[in-house]
Amino acid sequence: MRESEKSMKSADDSRNGHKNGGKAGLLEKIISPQTSLNDSLDGEVQEFLTDESQLHTFDDLTKVNPVTPTTVLKCLQARYRAQVFYTQAGCTLVALNPFQPFPDLYSLDMMKQYHAAPQPQELKPHVFIVAEEAYRNIRDQLEPLNQSLVVSGESGAGKTWTSRCLMKYYATVAASSSALKSQSTVERIERRVLDSNPIMEAFGNACTLRNNNSSRFGKFIQLQLNSGQLLVGASVQTYLLEKTRVSCQPASERNFHIFYQMMRGATDEQRREWKMPLNQSFDWLPNSEKQIEEDVFEETVEAMLHMGIKAETQRHILRILAGILHLGNVKFSSPGEEHQLCQLPEDSEESMQTAAKLLSVPAQEFVTCLRVRTLKAGKQSLLKPCSQSECRVRRDCLAKTIYSQLFEWLVTFINNSICADKSTWSSFIGVLDVYGFECFHVNKLEQLCINYANEKLQQHFVAHYLKAQQEEYVSEGLQWSFVKYQDNQSCLDLLEGSPVSVFSLLNEESRLNRASDPNMLRVRLEKELSDNPNISWDKFSRVPHFTVAHYAGKVSYQIEGMVEKNKDPVPAELMGLLQKSDNPLVCQIFAGMESENSTTRGLTKVTVVSKFKNSLESLMSILLNTTPHYTRCIKPNPDCRPLTFKQEEVILQLEACGIVQTIHISAAGFPIRIPFKGFIQRYGLILKHLKMGKSSDDLHVDISPQQEVEQLLSVVLNQRSCDERCSLVHCGR
Ligand code: ADP
Ligand code: MG
Repeated sequence: MRESEKSMKSADDSRNGHKNGGKAGLLEKIISPQTSLNDSLDGEVQEFLTDESQLHTFDDLTKVNPVTPTTVLKCLQARYRAQVFYTQAGCTLVALNPFQPFPDLYSLDMMKQYHAAPQPQELKPHVFIVAEEAYRNIRDQLEPLNQSLVVSGESGAGKTWTSRCLMKYYATVAASSSALKSQSTVERIERRVLDSNPIMEAFGNACTLRNNNSSRFGKFIQLQLNSGQLLVGASVQTYLLEKTRVSCQPASERNFHIFYQMMRGATDEQRREWKMPLNQSFDWLPNSEKQIEEDVFEETVEAMLHMGIKAETQRHILRILAGILHLGNVKFSSPGEEHQLCQLPEDSEESMQTAAKLLSVPAQEFVTCLRVRTLKAGKQSLLKPCSQSECRVRRDCLAKTIYSQLFEWLVTFINNSICADKSTWSSFIGVLDVYGFECFHVNKLEQLCINYANEKLQQHFVAHYLKAQQEEYVSEGLQWSFVKYQDNQSCLDLLEGSPVSVFSLLNEESRLNRASDPNMLRVRLEKELSDNPNISWDKFSRVPHFTVAHYAGKVSYQIEGMVEKNKDPVPAELMGLLQKSDNPLVCQIFAGMESENSTTRGLTKVTVVSKFKNSLESLMSILLNTTPHYTRCIKPNPDCRPLTFKQEEVILQLEACGIVQTIHISAAGFPIRIPFKGFIQRYGLILKHLKMGKSSDDLHVDISPQQEVEQLLSVVLNQRSCDERCSLVHCGR
């Protein structure tokens, strides 16, 4: 039998803890460059996979031998075909999106089964194992006590679905109030925690080309548990809402769901109040004819009520949203002369009046703020009519700011409603659902931030996993040659390092307040960062750009518009006006917000990048103090078709998330970790059997589980060397 076939056959045996991967050879693979797609499709591998009928039985990819992108791919494909969607890849769970409901897979019974299992890891791979493992770590008081579940993958891969699933699991198995109790369901914390999902999805999700329900923000939710491991509260932190979508929707995509929901679900009275008859069309509501989950307005309203958002406050929220839509219908016609004001066509005049009314600001002042700029020179101010495009920019900026401030207000409200008092909870399980690595035809500041976040997470993953693993081996006294892992520090230095980095130069340009010229940034990047091997330029390209070599691949970023977007200015006049609004919610969401002119203190202005970097740093420091669990979601085809697996799609995602290296790392270590007690439970019988017939002097009555394991191994394996014994089984906990 060929060596590879042997190891294929023994895969299931080794799951049961009888075998461990060899170390030295694999370690070299870890630090070697990633195998490319072409390299992986070699003849040897094809030959190795001749018997494909058993591939679907590999619950853990570390057991596939050899581990190459192709073997991993084929194994996942075989499992997908067999409708097995979860596969363990060492320390990571790979989740393939079926794009079709499988209710039995997530039923209450299933949750109970995983929750009640003595060793959930022995059941079929499932996201509930990840959930249960984290839960038990807390129950067993393992250090670090707090847990984080990091869910990653590209848009449409199933991150949000998985996060919801995890939240439902805890809301069920860690429910503080029994569902059977007659207690009002509105009161129940689990209900409120789950209700945060439809609200955040209504306001933060949209239909895109990649996903009909794409989250346009990142989210970290902390589920708070009391000392009895019951769910007593939660808190949510969001990242980088894609607010440009409010005023500009990419072709064939849509605005945020909530707008469509209210268009369809409004009562007659609301329609009258919002001046929104059924046939009303809005420029900022493209593709309304695609009916995607918008009959859920009532559900959103109900969830808001459960959350404690009163009917009157909801009315203010909806008036703001309707106001934004009318604002989008306001057009400006070009003035004849430069010093003249832009005019509003008749129908725009009406939209303007309605928008002003709904936002509760004086219409005349509102339109003036949109058309006239106040320039401050010392104590003097100068009024300057805006050009047609400047008027448009101001209108869009206003809509985006109102919407994003409203979103932040909602998140704060949700937190106030679901967050438990610090004295009542003692640990948390964090669920991180963030956008995966992005590489589009045109990549802008948003992609730079998103990919930077992915670099940070990747660094955390590699450093944490390898470091933790190696430290554990040392503390257990196992022989282990240290892995020199290749980290992505030089890419992070390029992006965020000091004294000079892409972010520092971008921030400097944004704070200099000079007319935006994309070439200035390009010149500085080329001059000051040319030493870094992770940045390059295509000398022949006419579009100013820079290319970053990320761990997941190269991405070219367009420089044009980056500085302006990073400044994210809000005209002071508009801000001042909204702060005086008669709609109490409008006042509230703008209270304390700084505008463009109030922050002319030079370098202190907070930019998009600096704000994002800070929030990411606090996230990383939270993650660093938790035990992480990783789930990588994979989108098996680009069209979201049920049960369709496209190899070329999947392999790119496997490469982008470095899954093959992860498997190598896991396989190089000790993938089977049985707690001492579990080991005794399982194999103690042998010891008992062996002890039979011995004198009572030979029996150690009061020995620890660890000593008992050692005794068992020394008896069973006394012909073997100590090293072999150590690598045979690693009893970690
Ligand atoms: P992401 O958050 O990664 O962009 P989603 O979680 O929104 O992706 O998933 C996209 C769609 O895929 C969902 O709307 C759902 O229809 C489907 N989906 C994802 N995971 C599953 C699953 N495990 N079972 C069934 N359908 C799923
Ligand atoms: Mg999502």
